Amino acid sequence: MSGLPKKTLKAAVIGWPIDHSLSPTIHRHWLAQYNITGQYDPIAVAPNELEAKITSLVGAGYNGFNVTIPHKTNIMACLDYIDPIAKRVGAVNTVWVEGGKLMGANSDVFGFLAHLEASAGKAWQRQMPALVIGAGGAARAVVVTLLDAGVSEVRLTNRTISKADEIAAHLQETRVKVIHWEGRNQAISGVGLIVNTTSLGMAGNPALDIDLSEAPGDCVVYDIVYKPLLTPLLAAAKARGLLTVDGLGMLMHQAVLGFGKWFGQVPQVDANLKAAVRKAAGC
Ligand code: NAP
Repeated sequence: MSGLPKKTLKAAVIGWPIDHSLSPTIHRHWLAQYNITGQYDPIAVAPNELEAKITSLVGAGYNGFNVTIPHKTNIMACLDYIDPIAKRVGAVNTVWVEGGKLMGANSDVFGFLAHLEASAGKAWQRQMPALVIGAGGAARAVVVTLLDAGVSEVRLTNRTISKADEIAAHLQETRVKVIHWEGRNQAISGVGLIVNTTSLGMAGNPALDIDLSEAPGDCVVYDIVYKPLLTPLLAAAKARGLLTVDGLGMLMHQAVLGFGKWFGQVPQVDANLKAAVRKAAGC
């Protein structure tokens, strides 16, 4: 019946701490753009209260959540269904309620690839080997994405080599080759893509120390760090004439899945959203 107030659709981002999250900026921008009666709340959830808090939020009518540090792995034990890709990554960052069940997926995988394809398109030679630098949480999503996208080899290097070994052992994939940190410059030879997934180059951190002189001329350089937008790695790649992809698009594209699930509208990543997120992030 017209005239009745619309039900407010509710979603949240949960983490500990949560103040730094840019997810509220993204989802509130889309709520306003699509004129949806909804709310998106940052909610601090301590590690020891995860399960109880989820139950109480669902009881209070939340349609789902983004999940950030430190809950991305522990949340998996609270879910009724986990998407197979998220299982392989070993982390869930998007949860929604469907038919009374709690469902989970990893949208970093989607966000990473969607932004790469939107920015580099056919210039990215996806059948070539890729070099992934770093072996933290984000690297897991990047490695799974690249394997599923059909790269011939993922060369994985990390300062702490045991973490790269762990990812390779978890994935059981012959295409993953672990490279010693000291061998990263040589590992650039013949790659179609270089991805920085470390926090090096982020504001307040040292730059990633890498020599791009062996990079093929058609190699794409992707830095998932987004603050600053032009990291020292991307500046060096541009100076060599290489195609570059920044980290902000991944952040925006990964939000598409959750928004569609919670608010019933598949949103667009566009220049207005990018301007809003840049302003909020100070980048
Ligand atoms: P994480 O799990 O803490 O991993 C950090 C990584 O950085 C590890 O590989 C670590 O190596 C490496 N590292 C840190 N300091 C280093 C140093 N001094 N020298 C060499 N390596 C160093 O973090 P994460 O969640 O994967 O995030 C990593 C970065 O990606 C952050 O900047 C984050 O903001 C960004 N990110 C962006 C997006 C996006 O949407 N654009 C999404 C997720 C993350 P060790 O293992 O040796 O410590």
